[in-house]
Amino acid sequence: MSDAYKLIEHEYDVVVVGAGGAGLRATFGMAATGLSTACVTKLFPTRSHTVAAQGGMSAALGNMGEDDWRWHMYDTVKGSDWLGDQDAIEYMCREAVPSVIELEHYGVPFSRTEDGKIYQRPFGGMTTHFGEGTAQRTCAAADRTGHAILHTLYQQSLKHDAKFFIEYFAVDLIMDEDGACRGVLAWDLAEGQLHLFKSHAVILATGGYGRAYFSATSAHTCTGDGNGMVVRAGLPLQDMEFVQFHPTGVYGAGVLITEGVRGEGGFLTNSDGERFMERYAPNAKDLASRDVVSRSMTMEIREGRGVGPKKDHIHLNLQHLGPDVIHKRLPGIAETAKIFANVDVTKDPIPVLPTVHYNMGGIPTNYHGEVVTLKDGDPDAVVPGLFAIGEAACVSVHGANRLGSNSLLDLIVFGRAVAHRCEEVIKPGTPHPETPKASLDKALAEFDALRNADGTRSTASIREEMQDVMQNHAAVFRTGETLKEGCELISATYDAFGDIKVSDRSLVWNSDLAETLELRNLLACAVTTMYGAENRKESRGAHAREDFTERDDEGWMKHSLEYLEEGGRVRIDYRPVHMYTLTDDVEVVPPKARVY
Ligand SMILES: Cc1cc2nc3c(=O)[nH]c(=O)nc-3n(C[C@H](O)[C@H](O)[C@H](O)COP(=O)(O)OP(=O)(O)OC[C@H]3O[C@@H](n4cnc5c(N)ncnc54)[C@H](O)[C@@H]3O)c2cc1C
Repeated sequence: MSDAYKLIEHEYDVVVVGAGGAGLRATFGMAATGLSTACVTKLFPTRSHTVAAQGGMSAALGNMGEDDWRWHMYDTVKGSDWLGDQDAIEYMCREAVPSVIELEHYGVPFSRTEDGKIYQRPFGGMTTHFGEGTAQRTCAAADRTGHAILHTLYQQSLKHDAKFFIEYFAVDLIMDEDGACRGVLAWDLAEGQLHLFKSHAVILATGGYGRAYFSATSAHTCTGDGNGMVVRAGLPLQDMEFVQFHPTGVYGAGVLITEGVRGEGGFLTNSDGERFMERYAPNAKDLASRDVVSRSMTMEIREGRGVGPKKDHIHLNLQHLGPDVIHKRLPGIAETAKIFANVDVTKDPIPVLPTVHYNMGGIPTNYHGEVVTLKDGDPDAVVPGLFAIGEAACVSVHGANRLGSNSLLDLIVFGRAVAHRCEEVIKPGTPHPETPKASLDKALAEFDALRNADGTRSTASIREEMQDVMQNHAAVFRTGETLKEGCELISATYDAFGDIKVSDRSLVWNSDLAETLELRNLLACAVTTMYGAENRKESRGAHAREDFTERDDEGWMKHSLEYLEEGGRVRIDYRPVHMYTLTDDVEVVPPKARVY
């Protein structure tokens, strides 16, 4: 098969797949240390979903009141509902401080306090003194923080001569017989050629898979491609059952209204005009963690106190903040509400509904970003040559539920960690071993089969079926019965993919084929999510079961490992949660920022 397509070969020390916040931070970090670095991305870098992040990025800088990275760590462990790996959480919260200061020096235009420091706003679940006070910890560039970060990181990557392959679709990993990753196969969408990137490290930074669901805040391009490549390489995904619903997606459109709105003083009301969060979470109220707010809203709607003609959504009020605060701190929100809900936020509330927002699960890694798997009884066995960062990865710093503003942080801290690790372990210019032919041939044969697929089902129809099953069977509240049915339905949808028809046979700008490759990846994410949710018989973080309403630490304080098997079935195994920290009993001095 490798003869049928003329492959263009490249050799790099390191190849990053993805140019969102995580991918770009890794790309320029490695390029800056002298490793020859390629970044392969299906989108133009600044169109990655990170650009849409509004609210900000957490770090215990203490610019607007006292703060300490240990308090941040406490909040994150608690927010994860004790499923997060505590060594990784410690690493993230400690390294947050130098990581943000580096970003500032690279040129991110953060909003400022009166005395010129980085502006920080309160966010859900972020506290001081181990749960006692409210922390102002989320660093923001107005309500366009992701946009500001992404543009700065792209500029830095260009400055450090990273080589970009833009609008190249990574198809599959190239793995050798011993299970090491040797490179990646990619398809140049514009020119139609296939490219083989040989590399000592492949860093997957492909983002989340929100589009497995019908209603999601994420871009249509968030299709879990890295996750799909990993399961096809025979490796497991981790904790896929944990899907975060953001409380405030615009009703109907799904577009996000940032938690920063509630951070600035906005609040939710039901059809009685009641601030119902005071009943569910008397202390944190509207800034309780996302799972709590989403479930409270769902309860209000279920009990008939939703707003609108169908009583099926909730109101988010910010009129009382006044036009000055709104235009200074939340200008993008005012615009979004106008475009997607036709609401003038200075006068009327925004109609909102819990919407799929973030995937806590993904490719299991340690805190260096190295992909790990269960091998010969070792739950932390490193997969040589393979790394994952950002939303595609499961480090796991978010455990069963992510705190708002901890994802942008995760991207930057672990993008940076991978750069440090690769600098340590890879010598620039090391020769490449021969490409494993079996793995390359398999990837090419599957690509070719899809390109020529001549079944009866369209990609769009299978995608819609998958999105409906996920939306109806693996939503905010889950029960054994609907999940069991969901497993049967999603496996059937997975099977239907075998009967797919791709109408366009060309290789140049073939969006039909690109969407089919994306659907293949989404389906891998969907089945592992559904089976993982059916299997986990407890409620923890974002996974709320009506038949098992309590958290069960004895039985379930462990990571699920989900392996995709023949016929869209899933085999499940487990890894222990890391309950230890990096610095047990050691006094820690936060490291200094490095600026290249
Ligand atoms: C609307 C919205 C608002 C958010 N707001 C916040 C916030 O305020 N604070 C916060 O902490 N978090 C926020 N989040 C979450 C956070 O923004 C995301 O988790 C994060 O941006 C994901 O970044 P990433 O680098 O992992 O991936 P993305 O930014 O999604 O980038 C993925 C990259 O992978 C590339 N790619 C994917 N598949 C392939 C392939 N097959 N071949 C080649 N390239 C590929 C794409 O081209 C893209 O460059 C928000 C999320 C959304 C959806």
